[in-house]
This record gives sequence, structure tokens and C-alpha cells, in this order.
Amino acid sequence: MDMPTPQNVLVVEDEEHLAHMLELELTHQGYRVGKAATGPEGLSMALAGPWDAVILDLMLPEMDGLSVCRHIRERSAVPIIILTAKGEVEDRVSGLDAGADDYLPKPFHPEELLARIRAVLRRRARGDRPEEELQVDDLVLNLNTREVRRAGQLVHLTRNEFELLRFLMDNSPWVMTREMILERVWGYDYLGSSNIIDVYIRRLRSRVDDPFPAKLIHSVRGVGYVLKTL
Ligand code: CA
Repeated sequence: MDMPTPQNVLVVEDEEHLAHMLELELTHQGYRVGKAATGPEGLSMALAGPWDAVILDLMLPEMDGLSVCRHIRERSAVPIIILTAKGEVEDRVSGLDAGADDYLPKPFHPEELLARIRAVLRRRARGDRPEEELQVDDLVLNLNTREVRRAGQLVHLTRNEFELLRFLMDNSPWVMTREMILERVWGYDYLGSSNIIDVYIRRLRSRVDDPFPAKLIHSVRGVGYVLKTL
């Protein structure tokens, strides 16, 4: 999972504090970071590339993020992750319509942005071909047939169990926070208790881990869950 060469990420964000925090986090993770603080600057920097990903705020001076996104898309296929204010569903939809690859509602945990960046980079590395299988150790999840097998044995999962397993496998070996799991598996607008995660993790374990000697799903106290070989 190590990155062979540093990847270049452009951060287009006018909130200086947030832009600086993102720069620190991304640099710390080994990315090369460029920054732009207005729409036009972001657009010209994005097109001047080469970037592996663009983090694009929606509310920007001089030109809004959606217009920037559309203009980038006319000329470039660079992955774009849009930052939106929390809960603004329409922004998310228009962001995706404008050609963004993903969106992230503010406020967000830096880990979550990093996970999204890794995901768009992985998709890009696959040339946007849909990945057919996720595999961790002897656990295999087929995205087309939605079949899950552990050590060759078919494992039956409900829809939510499948989505939870898929999310953990897709992000393996990184720890996913409870917030990330809740948003990505149950949806950002889910209003129920986050205890649902523990319930589903227990069910997943009983199907995927309990019958087998090697455990793959691990709790990280106070943070969340990770699926990996120890
Ligand atoms: Ca802004």
C-alpha cells in the first residue's frame, strides 16, 4: 500500500486555517501539496498540473467551487473531491453533477479526507475500471456477484452487513472511525444511534471471523474498527 512516488494534491480552500491544516496533514502523509485561495487561482493551478487529486471547497472568492469544478472537467480528468458545508444535500448532488469524484461534508476529520483521497487515487490507478474483487487474507468479496467467501466458504450477509464489510475491506489496513462508518454505510443523514455499528460488527464477526482461527476485524478503542491481517 506504500506510495512509490509522492503524489501531488492541490488544495483550493480560502479558509487559511483549514488550508494550512490540510497542507500539514497531506505533507505528513507524503503528498506534495499546492494551495490556491480563490476560484480563478484554483482553476489555473488545477489546469497547470500535473495533480493526482484536487481538493476543492465550494464557497470560494471570485468564482464558486462548482464553476471551478466544471471548468476543470472541460479540460482535465483529475480526481476532484469537493468540500461542502454539512448536510447540504443539493451541494453534494450538484458537485457530483459538475464532475466531482467525491464530496466531503464539513466539518470532517482529516483521516476521512485522507481515506477519500486514497479511494479516488485507487480508482484512478485502476483506470476507472470497476474493481471486481476485494481481498484481505482469505476473505474475498466480489463486487459484481456480491458473494463473500472466507477460506473458500460462502458467507451469507444482509445488505448492510455487506456494505459494512465492503467499506472496511476497501479501506484496509486503515482504521475507520465510527463517524466514517456511519456516514459511508448508513448515510450522512442517518439519525439513529451509532450503537448500530457495534451491533453490525458483532454480526459480521459471527459470520466472517468466529468460525475461523485468524481474526480480521479488530476494534480500535475509542476510534473505530479496522479489517486487516494482524
Ligand atoms: Ca470557503
